Amino acid sequence: MTHRDIAPEQRSTEVGPPLWLLAELTYRCPLQCPYCSNPLDFAHTQTELSTEQWMEVLRQGREMGAAQLGFSGGEPLVRQDLAELIGEARHLGYYSNLITSGIGLTKAKVDTFLEAGLDHIQVSFQASDSELNNALAGSRKAFEQKLAMARAVKEAGYPMVLNFVIHRHNIHQMNDIIDLCDRLDADYVELATCQYYGWAFRNREALMPSKTQLLTAETAVKSYRERLAASGSRMKLIFVTPDYYEERPKACMNGWGSLFLTVAPDGTALPCHSARMLPIDFPNVCETDLRTIWYDSPGFNHYRGDSWMPEPCRSCDEKARDFGGCRCQAYLLTGNADNADPVCSKSPHHDRVLAARRAADHATTGLEDLTYRNTENSRLFFRS
Ligand code: SF4
Ligand code: SF4
Repeated sequence: MTHRDIAPEQRSTEVGPPLWLLAELTYRCPLQCPYCSNPLDFAHTQTELSTEQWMEVLRQGREMGAAQLGFSGGEPLVRQDLAELIGEARHLGYYSNLITSGIGLTKAKVDTFLEAGLDHIQVSFQASDSELNNALAGSRKAFEQKLAMARAVKEAGYPMVLNFVIHRHNIHQMNDIIDLCDRLDADYVELATCQYYGWAFRNREALMPSKTQLLTAETAVKSYRERLAASGSRMKLIFVTPDYYEERPKACMNGWGSLFLTVAPDGTALPCHSARMLPIDFPNVCETDLRTIWYDSPGFNHYRGDSWMPEPCRSCDEKARDFGGCRCQAYLLTGNADNADPVCSKSPHHDRVLAARRAADHATTGLEDLTYRNTENSRLFFRS
């Protein structure tokens, strides 16, 4: 794949600033979720930006107009400088969000982060009960720790956001999951059906629910929503539908290089956290300033606009709505990231999505069929 050469005057007039900055502080994580969106070969990337380098990234991002900042990973809590980075984010005027598994969090840290200026904590769970949660997380104590930390987050006065990735092994728990969130007095609950990138793509056959399972889950969420409204509860349920059961793709990241800028642990700058897999040379914040990366780098300009689009997207009257869908999904399913996202029923490769749906209808896979996200498996994968 070659880079496209776009004249600078053309770029800077068309492209707005990155409003959302995602700081992936580390790929280290004590858990092993088989749907993790980190790269399969994450173990190969051991370098992490220093505290000072991250602060410089935050400063440059804010100068360009970024307003929302996410700290994620891996597990961002393994970074000992997290409170310092939160303090700098507050000083710069970001609205900051910590995306965490809750492992490594303590009541004292919750309070320290609040004092440092953190606005928001999102705690992820794997399931509604300890047995399944811990099996999926690969940790015997994860569930109890998550419960304790969800309570600590609420007590400290943060808005409480709980996140569940939904797949065929926990989709039957929808009512139990929402019950649990209600008991924890969550403000927002993200029921995010698994999207198939990174480890989730590797495990797709063992994770993808059938259409019947999905419809049952959707109905459960809808009726729970009605009960919550009738009871005066303010808990919000956000059900994210899976791309593989749609006929049109989502406007991925609101368009390539449009709003979102991710910086990976080693400083690689990406238009989305999955894009590292693409055969594109992405720039690094250690070598290039963020402004140049965003406006002028070949990597960030690669899929801006629509001149790169082949048919059927090029002449499609819907291209301004979805930008041809997700480049990573196109790459994973067709081997060419330029193609229309195969989720689209107009794509000549849509049969691959239909085949995945059919396979999900007949799948008999169990937890033992999953490849867990850990350093050992990542190294094996890298060697292969
Ligand atoms: S998805 Fe699971 S394994 Fe991946 S970073 Fe989050 S907690 Fe860790
Ligand atoms: S053909 Fe391309 S632009 Fe048209 S709806 Fe499908 S993915 Fe979107």
